[in-house]
Amino acid sequence: MNLKNIQFQNTRTFAKELDDADALGDLRDQFHFPVIKGKRAVYFCGNSLGLQPKNAKKYFLEELDDWAKWGVDGHFNSTRPWFAYHHNFTKSLAKIVGAKNSEVVAMNTLTVNLHLLMLSFYRPTKKRFKIIMEAGAFPSDMYAMETQAKLHGFNPKSAIVEVKPRKGEHTIDEEDILSAIDKHKSSVALVVFGGVNYYTGQYFDLEKITKAGHKVGAKVGFDLAHAVGNMPMELHKWDVDFACWCSYKYLNSGPGGVGGAFVNEKHAKNPKTLRLAGWWGYDEKTRFQMTKGFKPIPTAESWQMSNAQVMNMAAHRASLDIFDQTSVKNLRKKSLVLTAYAEYLLELVKTENKKLKYEIVTPKNPEQRGAQLSLLFKSNGKKVFKHVEKNNIIVDWREPNVFRFAPVPMYNNFQDVYELYACLKAF
Ligand SMILES: *Cc1c(COP(=O)(O)O)cnc(C)c1O
Repeated sequence: MNLKNIQFQNTRTFAKELDDADALGDLRDQFHFPVIKGKRAVYFCGNSLGLQPKNAKKYFLEELDDWAKWGVDGHFNSTRPWFAYHHNFTKSLAKIVGAKNSEVVAMNTLTVNLHLLMLSFYRPTKKRFKIIMEAGAFPSDMYAMETQAKLHGFNPKSAIVEVKPRKGEHTIDEEDILSAIDKHKSSVALVVFGGVNYYTGQYFDLEKITKAGHKVGAKVGFDLAHAVGNMPMELHKWDVDFACWCSYKYLNSGPGGVGGAFVNEKHAKNPKTLRLAGWWGYDEKTRFQMTKGFKPIPTAESWQMSNAQVMNMAAHRASLDIFDQTSVKNLRKKSLVLTAYAEYLLELVKTENKKLKYEIVTPKNPEQRGAQLSLLFKSNGKKVFKHVEKNNIIVDWREPNVFRFAPVPMYNNFQDVYELYACLKAF
């Protein structure tokens, strides 16, 4: 499938032809779809909570069985020993975010990881104390930055620099990010951006931001909540300092699913990198000698404080198994066409049904967006949303007037997108 040589058509037959040509089309059979009033729903909320992999239950039951069978000895004797349960994710996660195996770990939850990593990488001084971030970041990130500044005795108002969209625009101009970094070059300690903005779906150029941050002597980290499993990334090659993500959005690992973290090997290997320690970050071979003096594993795993959340992680295994059957690159190839088809139909339907008054605020440039489109309604937004819901299509509403939906390449198809179009046309 190649975006350049497709002439889109607004027919169900055409959507079906695209589905027939889709090499990833079968992956969808490995997921449970919600069923509403006896009918399988069209699901577009994978950017909020990914669907359940059918194997999640099996993997979860395996751990329950092993717990019943072994009790404490399951730590070493169960099918997948709990002592090393987090190792099950290393290879797949490294591939998904473009990292070395030693640079990733599945642990905790997203905001917790963001704080933990900031404790290591936001080390402000009187002269260098600012954090540069995007305006309109996810609230949890805003609160994290605000309280980290306070923790170190700074006033968030002067410590946090937000890069805003220009007047009359919805997304942030890349030039403005780079010039903000340059403007604060002698006072910035940390640059933190979301990989993909949750509201507009804008994808930032992580490599450029990293280079710009490093050039002025700042550390650079990313919250990849909406980017992981959605955009191909090369965190190691781009020399990113740290990153964190959750696994319940595009990684389909269930509500409250285990989060993940990336720490560049140059920091993980360096014993001088301060990390708040717990026993699970301690050298594995000698961990059970239980002696004084923290000896960190020289990898991202040394940021683990506690033993693995096995029950929660069972679903993560089921999901990453499916990622292992393909690659984010392949998913992205399909995603580019799928999102473009959605954009084509949504621009078209506005001209066919004049009651629809919205503007797509997600960037038009496919390089600056992933599997999401956000529609900003000028009127009738809530009514349109209710109409769509009533027709068995699950999308997401953000106050005051944004309707977000994500055609997820792993389990959505072209006919799903066509259904949304047909439903909007009938509003
Ligand atoms: C979803 C999301 C979160 C949620 O944080 P949790 O700690 O997992 O509850 C945080 N930040 C961003 C950018 C998100 O998109």
